[in-house]
This record gives sequence, structure tokens and C-alpha cells, in this order.
Amino acid sequence: MRRKLVVGNWKMHGSRAANAQLLAGLKEAGPWNADVAVCVPFPYIAETALALTGTSIAYGAQDCSSHEQGAFTGEVSSAMLADIGCRYAIVGHSERRAYHAESDQLVADKAKAALAHGVTPIVCVGETRAEREAGQTEAVVKRQLAAVIHTLGHCCGEMVVAYEPVWAIGTGLTATPAEAQAVHAVLRAQLHAATDRSGVMRILYGGSVKADNAAELFSQPDIDGGLIGGASLKVADFAAVCLAA
Ligand code: PGA
Repeated sequence: MRRKLVVGNWKMHGSRAANAQLLAGLKEAGPWNADVAVCVPFPYIAETALALTGTSIAYGAQDCSSHEQGAFTGEVSSAMLADIGCRYAIVGHSERRAYHAESDQLVADKAKAALAHGVTPIVCVGETRAEREAGQTEAVVKRQLAAVIHTLGHCCGEMVVAYEPVWAIGTGLTATPAEAQAVHAVLRAQLHAATDRSGVMRILYGGSVKADNAAELFSQPDIDGGLIGGASLKVADFAAVCLAA
């Protein structure tokens, strides 16, 4: 009942030439049964939009400001993202939480700003290795999600959630399908208590998803697709993940 969603997170990779090749390759390889999107660096969004015209592949950003507009040098507003046709904005990626000291509340405010302009926030949550080893996985992801639910109120049913265990990102380590499913079920239950849309909301898994582990992860009852980093940078790898969804 939930259509799968696969989102490529290019992170800080790419060039005009490399992107053109990658996007042309994806156009050739699709369409797939799943919804597919790419979240690209800000300077490349407009060209990505052009390259994807006429396809069913959506595009978005990897962050957005929590502010509406004004004197915020270096920030990009969700109104701007909407203006150039972004469907999605990733917020609260663990790299931003870790390297830019983004708090749970800031992430929630960014999600709210995105939704206010019709941009769907992909809200990332996930525990570090130390937190998992200390048995805190559930508490951490619930705390991160609670801030967003509280801030969005009844609109929280419009977001996409991505569970990304920090220890699995870019490391080649993946949560087992059962480990991931267990956390997804916790998140779904938390959403269920907050919105009557919990049954249709998509909860993505991210962290070293590749062609050879995607199908098993995506077959779990509460895993509705993936947020894909490294494997989104090569046509064959990303296409294979999309095919598995
Ligand atoms: P990865 O990254 O697939 O390279 O582990 C996922 C992410 O950070 O979104």
C-alpha cells in the first residue's frame, strides 16, 4: 500500500560534466516501479531540473534553512527550493548534525520551513555506534523524531522519515534487515501515535545500501525504500537499487 521511494543523496560530489552523464544514464535506465529522486548540491539543482524534464525522477536539496528569508548569508530557503521545483529536502542528515552542530530542534524547524513551501522534508534520524552499543538506539531515534513531530503538529504526516544508523553510513556496514526493521517499527509506532497518516508515510533506510543488499532491506514490512549515498553516484549501482525497490 506504500509505494517505495528511493532517494539518491549525492552529498558533496559531482561536476556539471559528471552530473550530465549520471542523469542521462538514469533517464535511460528508468522508469522503475518505485518513486525515485536525487538530492543534489545546491548549484546543480537547476541543471538537474532541466536534465530531468519529462521524466518521473524527482529532485531535491540536501538541506534547507529554517528561516523564511533575510540576512542569513550562505543559507538557502525552502521558498527558493520550491521556486526551482524541488520536491524534497533532506534535513537532519547525521553529517549535518555532527559537523554543523544541528540540534533536534533546528532540524524540526527546517522540516517545518520545507513543508510550509510544499517541499517534502526527508527527516533523518539515527544512532551512533556508541549509542547502539550502550543500548540507546530506540531512545535516540525517538528523541530525534519527537522533536519533529512536536514542531510539525498535524502536518507531521506529510514528511518522509529516513532511519540512518550513523555507523552504517559510508562504512560498508549495514544494519541487518531485521535490525533495521526493528527500528522502523519503533518509528512507525511513534508516528501512529501522532498522525492518522502513519500507515501511508514512508520510512526509508539509509546506510551502505547497495544493489546486493537492497532487495532484502526493502522487503521488510516497515522499510519503504532507501536513502542512498555512495551507490547513487554510479548509474548501474543506483539503477540496480531502484530496480530492487
Ligand atoms: P551511504 O550514505 O549510502 O554512502 O552509506 C547514505 C547517506 O548518508 O544518506
